[in-house]
Amino acid sequence: MIQTSVLEIPASYLFSDIGKQVAAYQASHPDKRVIRMGIGDVTRPLPRVCIDALHKATDEMASADTLRGYGPDQGYEFLRDAIARNEYQSRGATIYPDEIFVSDGAKSDSANIQELFDVDSIVGVTDPVYPVYVDSNAMAGRLGHYLNGDWTRLVTFPCTEENGFVASPPRKEVSLIYLCFPNNPTGATASASQLKAWVDYALDHRAVILYDAAYRAYITNPDIPRSIYEIEGARECAIEFGSFSKTAGFTGLRCSWTVVPKDLRIDNASLHALWARRQATKFNGTPYIVQRAAEAIYTEEGKAQVERVIGYYMENAARIRGALEALGLTASGGVNAPYVWLKCPDDQSSWAFFDRLLNEAQVIGTPGSGFGACGEGYFRLTAFGSHEDTIEAMDRLRKIL
Ligand code: PLP
Repeated sequence: MIQTSVLEIPASYLFSDIGKQVAAYQASHPDKRVIRMGIGDVTRPLPRVCIDALHKATDEMASADTLRGYGPDQGYEFLRDAIARNEYQSRGATIYPDEIFVSDGAKSDSANIQELFDVDSIVGVTDPVYPVYVDSNAMAGRLGHYLNGDWTRLVTFPCTEENGFVASPPRKEVSLIYLCFPNNPTGATASASQLKAWVDYALDHRAVILYDAAYRAYITNPDIPRSIYEIEGARECAIEFGSFSKTAGFTGLRCSWTVVPKDLRIDNASLHALWARRQATKFNGTPYIVQRAAEAIYTEEGKAQVERVIGYYMENAARIRGALEALGLTASGGVNAPYVWLKCPDDQSSWAFFDRLLNEAQVIGTPGSGFGACGEGYFRLTAFGSHEDTIEAMDRLRKIL
């Protein structure tokens, strides 16, 4: 009755294990203040333009003349237009509003997209990886069996210090390729030539790239692509996920988008038509008021407010990376990305370093091994805290390392 692979999926212990260890530590050291540098959630308030747009849209719901019920399947045109213009066309990428599907999260869309593909498709992911791509395919029965800590039908692309945490396309045949840049957890970004190699691979092998650009707004270097569609050929082989979560603090409000270009055809089928059909059946839209709030970030005022919040987090990222490097540690990320990825000192394991930071400095990060085998020996710190906490955490690290 129950699908075997659903039974085989290992429980997701990472954040619950961290939570348990922190709770146990706090119980025995109630006088110590723990600083959380492991959070992947935002902490700054929503931009003022979003709050104003929410109030205005809410007032519209109070009158029969302006009430909005079910919205258009793909999202309101005002938002799809704003996304196409500001996220793509302004950067020279050809994406049209009717190729954009507004949704409630890059998590749900990146987990659901696999429904369009054959259960025999070979899936490839980077290691370390955002676990949603693996687990959603495992739940669909596409990854074989879970034996000795690995899925038998999953291909992984190791991301190591040697390749700067950006893998090259494999020699093996893979048909569904998940890429995420700027990367969670490593904070790595991919250059245009690195992305071109993946696009060429996908075109040669008739593979589809599923490109997660949830952290695109953190890229300030104009030479680094924010979108896979800045690469020639990507319209024929890539689907992209974007999100307002980390750009504008929408983790609690929920709004995202998925781009499925009309040029993307596999086995003579239009993936745009298939995704439209899937969404029309299973999704009933992001709330009108939330789509209005998302639209507001594309006004001049909105852009300035978003830039300020991102600048705030990036100050933390620079401070973390600078402090680690001054201590002689090997750290990457934290530039064009809100995550800093550090090599644990003295060849410590990820969990041993976690214990050390918790017990000696009362600083919490995320053990890299929780994101895949290649993450062992690494540790993730995030820039989403307050300036005060980030400064204090780095002072504490300086004292113990
Ligand atoms: N993709 C990546 C790589 C993430 O790290 C996250 C959140 O942490 C998400 C997607 C989720 O985005 P959303 O809030 O839009 O569901």
